[in-house]
Amino acid sequence: MTDRFDDYSNANVFVDYEFDRHAHQRSNPKWLERTLKKSDTRFIVIWRHRCAVTSRSLQFARADELQPADLGSPVFLGMHNQAAVFAIDLGAARAVPTAYQGWDFQGLRSIGTHLCASEAALAAFALAMVLWIRRHRFCGLCGTATTTAAAGHVLHCSNPECGERSFPRSDPAIIVLATDNERVLLGRQASWPEGRYSTIAGFVEPGESLEAAVRREVAEETGHLVSAVEYVSSQPWPFPSSLMLGFTAQVSGTAQHPTDEELEDVRWFTLDQIVTRTLNGPALLPPPMSIAYRLIERWFDQLYDEPLAQIIARRRG
Ligand SMILES: [Zn+2]
Repeated sequence: MTDRFDDYSNANVFVDYEFDRHAHQRSNPKWLERTLKKSDTRFIVIWRHRCAVTSRSLQFARADELQPADLGSPVFLGMHNQAAVFAIDLGAARAVPTAYQGWDFQGLRSIGTHLCASEAALAAFALAMVLWIRRHRFCGLCGTATTTAAAGHVLHCSNPECGERSFPRSDPAIIVLATDNERVLLGRQASWPEGRYSTIAGFVEPGESLEAAVRREVAEETGHLVSAVEYVSSQPWPFPSSLMLGFTAQVSGTAQHPTDEELEDVRWFTLDQIVTRTLNGPALLPPPMSIAYRLIERWFDQLYDEPLAQIIARRRG
């Protein structure tokens, strides 16, 4: 079964099919200058890895609520509710800058599913851009400081003899739901909360296709071979710059090499075991905002007569 990619209602968290990035204005200094002065222009404010928020929403700050020095190199994100939105970075100092004490800054992992879909996607975009700029302050070729261009979407080496340009990057990582009929193969890392298991994931290596990465990662981490690899959907994961590419695959054999021991444990779960653990804990599944959860939910709901989301709601009572 293949998902319909125009089914916007079922998009992964951090995905907004409708968002207008307005990319044609990124290199239009006059338009940007005018837009930055407009009263309805808004700013998403990032400190460390956190976004400024109000109770259930991003805090869309006005220019006059910000320190002028912080408006030096805003990143233009696009148009949201007909208004231009920029991201600004307050840096990664341990303490909130004095002028912003009293603001509420929250990490996307904790607020991702509390925000509406379009704000979650906007926050993920803002965070990914800010983290990319922070991590590329110096040219990778000659070591000279970089400067931003194209409203924050290009970094230029300031050494005129070099002139290297770099662009925002996404690091592809595969994530795969490996099944054997009505059982699913899940693993856990030692650092995760007690009892949590999730789908198999790993970065795509240079010189490797996505489907080859799926086969390699499952073999390395679980000792199983898979076939019938099928793409499902993707999710930006700005911690700091991953793009999770979700697949399903069927376990078809045993790998020849020992596992890499990246996972503390790997085991099969039946539908009934998932229901029992979901109802009686400790919580088995990854957080609902992750594509890992969505892959498990999609498979589960195709086979079981009660939707997984309903079972989780039943536990919450
Ligand atoms: Zn350079």
